Amino acid sequence: MVEQQQCLVIIKPDGLIKSLTGNIITALSETKLKIVGAKVLKVPRELAERHYAELKERKPHVFVGTVDYITGKYHTDRVLVLVYQGEDAIEKIRRICGSTNPEDADPVSIRGRYGRIHSKTGVFENVIHASDSTENAEKEIKLWFQPSELAEILYPTEKLKVEVEQTFWK
Ligand code: ADP
Repeated sequence: MVEQQQCLVIIKPDGLIKSLTGNIITALSETKLKIVGAKVLKVPRELAERHYAELKERKPHVFVGTVDYITGKYHTDRVLVLVYQGEDAIEKIRRICGSTNPEDADPVSIRGRYGRIHSKTGVFENVIHASDSTENAEKEIKLWFQPSELAEILYPTEKLKVEVEQTFWK
C-alpha cells in the first residue's frame, strides 16, 4: 500500500504580487497530486512566528527577516495556502520548488525561475514554501487550516461545544 502524504504549500507575498499563482499551480500540477485545501489570507505575525518557530532555533539570524517577508513587509500581506495530497507528495513538490537559496536553485524550478535575494535585507525571496517532512506537514496543516476548511479529514478530529461570535453575510 502506497503511503499518502500531505504537504502544505504557501505561495508567498512576492508570488502573489508578481501574479505568479497561476504559473506556480500549473508547475505543481505536473505532480498529479490532489488539492484538498486552499485559501487566501492575511498572515498575522503570530501565525508566521509559529510557522517559523523551528527556523528560529535552526537559523536565528534569518528569523525576523523571514517573518517580515511572509507577513507582507516587502510586497503584499496576502498569501495563498494550499494542501496537496498523494504519493510522495513532499518529495515531488519540493523538487519542483528548488533549493532554498534561489541563486542555487535549478533554473527551471519555481525558486530558480522566480526567486531573488533581497539586496538590502538578504532575505531569500523564494516565492513558495513547502513542508519538508510528514511531521512538519501535519503541524503546518493544523496551524493554517481548521478541519472544516479541508475537503478531506486528514487527521483525527474531536467535537467540542464552543460559544463563539461569528460574522455572517447580512
Ligand atoms: P525551506 O523554505 O527551503 O524549507 P528553511 O526552512 O531553511 O528552507 O527556511 C525557511 C525560509 O527562510 C526560506 O524559505 C527563506 O525564505 C528563509 N531563509 C532560509 N535561509 C535563509 C538564508 N540563509 N538567508 C536568507 N533567508 C533565508
